[in-house]
Amino acid sequence: MFENLSERLGGVFDRLTKQGALSEDDVRTALREVRVALLEADVSLPVARNFVKRVQDKATGAAVTKSVTPGQQVVKIVHDELIRTLAGDDPEPGKLRIDQVPAPILMVGLQGSGKTTTTAKLARRLTERDKKRVLMASLDTNRPAAMEQLQILGRQIGVDTLPIVPGETPVQIARRAKTQASLGGYDVYMLDTAGRLHIDAELIAQAAEVRDVANPRETLLVVDGLTGQDAVNVATEFDDKIGVTGVVLTRMDGDGRGGAALSMREVTGKPIKFVGLGEKMDALETFEPERIAGRILGMGDIVALVEKAQQTLEAEQAERMMKRFQKGQFNMNDLKSQLEQMMEMGGMESMMSMMPGMGKAAKQMADAGMDDSILRRQIALINSMTKTERANPQLLQASRKKRIAAGAGLEVSELNKLLKMQRQMGDMMKKLGKGGMLKRAMSGMF
Ligand code: GDP
Repeated sequence: MFENLSERLGGVFDRLTKQGALSEDDVRTALREVRVALLEADVSLPVARNFVKRVQDKATGAAVTKSVTPGQQVVKIVHDELIRTLAGDDPEPGKLRIDQVPAPILMVGLQGSGKTTTTAKLARRLTERDKKRVLMASLDTNRPAAMEQLQILGRQIGVDTLPIVPGETPVQIARRAKTQASLGGYDVYMLDTAGRLHIDAELIAQAAEVRDVANPRETLLVVDGLTGQDAVNVATEFDDKIGVTGVVLTRMDGDGRGGAALSMREVTGKPIKFVGLGEKMDALETFEPERIAGRILGMGDIVALVEKAQQTLEAEQAERMMKRFQKGQFNMNDLKSQLEQMMEMGGMESMMSMMPGMGKAAKQMADAGMDDSILRRQIALINSMTKTERANPQLLQASRKKRIAAGAGLEVSELNKLLKMQRQMGDMMKKLGKGGMLKRAMSGMF
């Protein structure tokens, strides 16, 4: 599914991820290719345009200037936006409103879209997963073969179908299905309406009449996922005239271009509930936006990619810090980030014990009753310093110390201890740096 789009975007992102830093222009160029890729995948022009614009807005500015690997951030933003568009506000794609007994489900769509197959697949799912008693009825009076097809499928999956009575109109069949469902104690009855090769007034009028009789809880539109742009027009038309509550995209097992999923969601605003993944009766799955987005991007596990980017960023920060420490530069900002990491990593003792030569100190600290509340107080003291003071702790004379301690609600004596700690840690870092031990210590810390 979505091979073409995947390959195309894959190529774009390969180039992006190989670059160190991206300018706004780079983002724009990359996104232009994303747009072409979307169009080639049969995503409708306004949808592709809107999509790219949203990504552009999110990718430029903060995200691009701050990041060390902006390419990966763009990937992430495209991915998130795909999921957002595909998911819409449907919290539970696979869930249907069948909260009344019997609950009517109306199935609509063009001929050949997979409507009858999907009706049976869904009936099977409701029977097996949700333990519902389901009755299926075909309303395709123009094509007796279609009525028989549903009957055969029903027998195959062990779901009842309404007996065929020749000469009845679709509305009469719908009424009979309703009565039969009530009398027979069915939880759900499904109406498989007639399809046409193209939408016409008669088809729509018939479906509307049936809708008025059945008053369905769900009206599911079945569309062929391979038809791309056309599928969107069909969906819009059905929704305007009949009122659709959800979409089932069939043939998502094929190697189609797959743009339908994206356009369908964006243009109609209707949730995609299920996808058909084959001809067999069990080839129906709950629509999963993450999965489809991942496949559209064709980048495997995007989360892993972004996590890797994050690690790279942290490793680079660590490297920069280490270089400064080796030169004996260890200010209050450094101390603060160390203290915060200690908090994150399970407190002072576990942190110190990871650092070479600090095992004994850790034990002493623990013995002296120094717990994490001291870390919090130390961080409060640093927060109470100005930017200049943090960068140059040697500036801290009596009056500044008083102000800082007061700001944190603590004693100057505690600030003095913090200053001593910062000096000692600075000395230690410098010494360790010379022996090459700092690198080892820091690799354990990040
Ligand atoms: P209808 O005219 O809309 O009722 O369409 P049918 O249910 O008769 O399906 C038309 C053809 O498409 C049949 O051969 C089905 O087996 C096939 N079909 C339906 N859904 C899928 C699907 O998700 N994947 C594949 N590969 N084929 C499907």
